Amino acid sequence: MPVDESRIISLQEGGTPFIKCNKLGDQLGVKLYIKVEGSNPTGSFKDRGMSVGITKAMELGVNTVGCASTGNTSASLAAYAARAGLRCIVILPSGKVALGKLAQAMFHGAEVISVEGNFDEALEVITSLALDGKLYLLNSVNPFRLEGQKSIGFEIVDDLGWRSPDRIILPVGNAGNISAIWKGVREFYEADFINDLPRMTGIQAEGAAPITNAVRRGAYDIIPVENPETVATAIRIGAPVSALKALRAIYDSDGLSETVTDDEILYSQKLLARSEGIGVEPASAASIAGLRKLVENGEIDKGEEIVCVVTGHLLKDPNTAINACKEPINVEANVEALSRVLKGL
Ligand SMILES: *Cc1c(COP(=O)(O)O)cnc(C)c1O
Repeated sequence: MPVDESRIISLQEGGTPFIKCNKLGDQLGVKLYIKVEGSNPTGSFKDRGMSVGITKAMELGVNTVGCASTGNTSASLAAYAARAGLRCIVILPSGKVALGKLAQAMFHGAEVISVEGNFDEALEVITSLALDGKLYLLNSVNPFRLEGQKSIGFEIVDDLGWRSPDRIILPVGNAGNISAIWKGVREFYEADFINDLPRMTGIQAEGAAPITNAVRRGAYDIIPVENPETVATAIRIGAPVSALKALRAIYDSDGLSETVTDDEILYSQKLLARSEGIGVEPASAASIAGLRKLVENGEIDKGEEIVCVVTGHLLKDPNTAINACKEPINVEANVEALSRVLKGL
């Protein structure tokens, strides 16, 4: 990492679980591993990049940092800024941030402003403040964040015993992460640590799919989606800033991009939780939904070795989780009442 090692700001991010998922894998006819990024300190992969980004901010001697966020970037920035003792300003699209993430940003002491507009508009205003020198911007346009996030690529290679999987599948929003992971595995390839490279496979929500649309056209530029919509708020982005890097990752790796519907996302979120015990937020489940769709339509071969990166924790979006379930049955506190409802026990 490009930092002064004596002054690292860290919460011991990274080193996340790498789980072999035989049940789900067998069902789909692939060898499936899941990289559980929800196990990072603030519950998403954003912590990897924020450690490097905030360490750099300290080296540069800034006193105010900021970001626009669909939620997890702000939760992570707020925590790392608190640890570093920096003023933290967060701009959120109003009404479109999952409750757990909003709670984290506020609780860690960020100044949280919600703007009437979507993420893309929020990013535009905070970028203007940054260009005026008012704050140090820690969105994923910041190259140091991507340097931190490339450690997911390093770890997947390490987790597999120093080789590359056939394919890495992940949700794509602002498109920083797919670019960063590709950078990580490519660095290991260029250093001769591994002999093969994975196919980078980016999944977007149907209502926010500028990258997939570009791949379908075979283009290197995107047509922004004006009003992106999806239940997966973390990838509700119409004009991804790292689009070009992401498209290069997909084309250069002979990869793919596919869309999934909100229903497919929510189904896969529950499937993963109930078949493997891994609880993720909706955006993360897009990787599983995408895997299922690509197996179904024959784009992914039987027996492929797949790593799905699940990017954030289930409890980031408690409302969506609760709404997907029935309410608990309410009974009197005695055995007879319990036995009546717990049939067959
Ligand atoms: C940020 C985020 C994404 C999207 O990552 P990008 O780098 O913006 O493509 C996906 N899932 C979760 C949970 C996130 O927080």
